[in-house]
Amino acid sequence: AYVVTEACINCKFMDCVEVCPVDCFYEGENMLVINPNECIDCGVCEPECPAEAILPDTEDGLEEWLELNAKYSEDW
Ligand code: SF4
Repeated sequence: AYVVTEACINCKFMDCVEVCPVDCFYEGENMLVINPNECIDCGVCEPECPAEAILPDTEDGLEEWLELNAKYSEDW
């Protein structure tokens, strides 16, 4: 899955949400998050993010962000 990271905080752009084919972006406290169970790894959102906040979860050091994305995209 892809994961939203620090650069998204307080970002006002919604370009990623508009291009996602499976609508798996959700509102976190002060940033957007991706639901890791719904993301189909298409990669379309990554180049659309003006803040370059979206990364593939295969990159190192993203544990904290992965947790946060999962937490805030849970269905309550
Ligand atoms: Fe949506 Fe594709 Fe981005 Fe996953 S990689 S969040 S499915 S646009």
